Amino acid sequence: MLTLSPVEVSVKPYNSNSNKLALTTYPTSGGINPIPLKWGASNAQERGPVVASGLNTHNAIGAHGGSYSVYTALAIAGGALPTDFRPDFTNTQPTFDFKPQPAWADEKKIVSMDPFGHIVSTAYKTQLAAGVDIRPTIAVTRATMRMAEVAEAVRAGKLPVDGDIVIDAAGDVRVSKVAVEPVWYLPGVAERFNIDEAHLRRALFEHTGRSYPELITRPDIKVFLPPIGGLTVYIFGPPERISDPACTLALRVHDECNGSDVFQSDICTCRPYLAFGLQEAIREAQSGGSGLCIYFRKEGRALGEVVKYLVYNARKRGGDTADKYFQRTENVAGVRDMRFQALMPDILHWLGITKIDRMLSMSNMKHDAIVQSGIPIIERIPIPDDMIPQDSRVEIDAKINSGYFTTGTVRTTEELANVKGRGWAQWEDTVH
Ligand SMILES: [Zn+2]
Repeated sequence: MLTLSPVEVSVKPYNSNSNKLALTTYPTSGGINPIPLKWGASNAQERGPVVASGLNTHNAIGAHGGSYSVYTALAIAGGALPTDFRPDFTNTQPTFDFKPQPAWADEKKIVSMDPFGHIVSTAYKTQLAAGVDIRPTIAVTRATMRMAEVAEAVRAGKLPVDGDIVIDAAGDVRVSKVAVEPVWYLPGVAERFNIDEAHLRRALFEHTGRSYPELITRPDIKVFLPPIGGLTVYIFGPPERISDPACTLALRVHDECNGSDVFQSDICTCRPYLAFGLQEAIREAQSGGSGLCIYFRKEGRALGEVVKYLVYNARKRGGDTADKYFQRTENVAGVRDMRFQALMPDILHWLGITKIDRMLSMSNMKHDAIVQSGIPIIERIPIPDDMIPQDSRVEIDAKINSGYFTTGTVRTTEELANVKGRGWAQWEDTVH
């Protein structure tokens, strides 16, 4: 058992008259009185707000905004933002009123987001008026979007202009969007990974540069706001159809790949699958169902872009064949993937999804996580062969060999050695 003694250091604070800085708190510290928080309670009032600020009254470890919390600190340090700033939530309420789902009150079904994170400004009005700093962790809005591949499909007559979902011949599409920041209920997260909570807390503490000592000193606080990216839900068609079992549902669960998603690098199938997923989601909505794309900020299989580029170099310089595809990542990162889909289905349960008619993903990991969480998948739709970019056969064939779903060819490990990506020799020699 790790024990720490209470520490106070004398410092010259940047904005306070006090010269004492508490490095952590303890349940037994004088004045400690966390605002009650009962994860899995049936409504927002009974559950209580997630409160990350307030030295004595906070009931969550960490800071709001995921990784952007560092920019908040920078803004305060630089004097751009006062420490006592409180948001004005006038007119920020959701554009669609999501009906409460049974999972919102199930402490096991949702452990990585706050099911009441979108109604903070109304559900906790009294506490906000009393000065408690409570922040939404979910926001719901509406937009019009245009993606080149979708616009092309509209021009080619593959998606009709219906005036409501696809609103014009230019390929503009109406969408509802839900942004979600991670809020972890630590006992539930630990259970998903089949580890004990203390073990999880210790690892989170030690491997975030010891940034969150309360993970160790405040076992009474069960909620953690991790410094990571969240997710965005793109909804096509009326959002109320999502939880209606009479409506068909098409779903793409997509993990961020900036190089492909935004800049259309051709080494992987990410953007083509995203574009295909969006087209199919729109098609489903146009035929009376519901279409969804959920975009997770898990760049480079949650290994980050630096590791990803190192792996690219190792692949290209080592002779880029599909049989070595995963090994190259393991050499650099120690694992082939850190996306760990175990927490991913939470958002599906939050939305009230009870079955997925068409799953626009070949990933066995995503499939298994969803099905194991109790949501059946009726049909799985692989990316069409003609959408697979030239240089990404290495990736897709390696993944299919390792268990990805396909209706096409599964190459043997021996055959994978003959699936070769583009070499670098040519342009490494000629570009200076
Ligand atoms: Zn990619």
